[in-house]
Amino acid sequence: MTSLAGRTVLISGASSGLGAGFARIVARAGANVVLGARRVERCAALAEEIANAGGSAMAVPLDVTDEASVIAAFDWAEQCFGTVNGVVANAGTGFLNRSTEAPLAHLRAVMETNLLGAYLLAREGARRMIAAGSKKRGDGRIVMIGSITAKQHHKGDAMYAATKAGLAHLARQFAREWVRQGINVNTLEPGWILTDINAEWFASDAGKADIVGNPRRRLLEPHALDDMLLYLLSDGSAQITGSTFTIDDGQHL
Ligand code: NAD
Repeated sequence: MTSLAGRTVLISGASSGLGAGFARIVARAGANVVLGARRVERCAALAEEIANAGGSAMAVPLDVTDEASVIAAFDWAEQCFGTVNGVVANAGTGFLNRSTEAPLAHLRAVMETNLLGAYLLAREGARRMIAAGSKKRGDGRIVMIGSITAKQHHKGDAMYAATKAGLAHLARQFAREWVRQGINVNTLEPGWILTDINAEWFASDAGKADIVGNPRRRLLEPHALDDMLLYLLSDGSAQITGSTFTIDDGQHL
């Protein structure tokens, strides 16, 4: 397994789904893990589970759409573990609907969580990394969790897909801006995986038809993302920045 020993990694949306799985694997690779989400009690329970398994973890309340909350989360992380030198912008939300019927509140929530929230999280992380001397060490790592919907149509997901396309380009913009500050910014674009965000959809007849419509007639297993995530957070990816990686079991084919 790729080693993240000596690193501190903050993960947004760590209270469920992919974020919770990322927290476990990043801790197992030896990093201090900071689990951030609005449901902080869930993060606290997971941090305890990680600590009981021999890992190093803490929970912080985090709403990525609220700049003060983002700043406070980094403050707490720094007090406990020192500078955060890995950030996983994983928090995301979506509402399936026809675009002609989508309520404005849903559209705003998707934009503010998936795009603005990732912006606020990544830039606060970058500010701290730069202040702590990432330029000299080249150890800053930021990973955006995008989606294959950035490049392909998915019914009922117009705003979600647009935010994920925007996120991949935001990562390229940040990557160029911080390229001489020792910070690498990359995007991981997963295919469909069963989590809270889509459980209702995949339980429906239309959702089940979607599953068998995939080339391998199945959903992606969450652990399929682990190796690439660890690599993008590690010293080994020192010369990879501004890149986008699709991991989807061929779902885009
Ligand atoms: P999930 O609903 O289990 O996880 C999303 C997490 O983000 C939740 O813990 C939620 O509480 C958190 N969150 C939402 N708004 C937040 C906010 N304002 N501040 C802090 N946290 C907030 O679903 P998931 O599938 O684990 O999603 C994780 C990421 O993966 C999302 O960005 C999603 O778009 C992306 N993704 C998921 C799939 C999939 O098929 N499950 C595919 C591609 C990409």
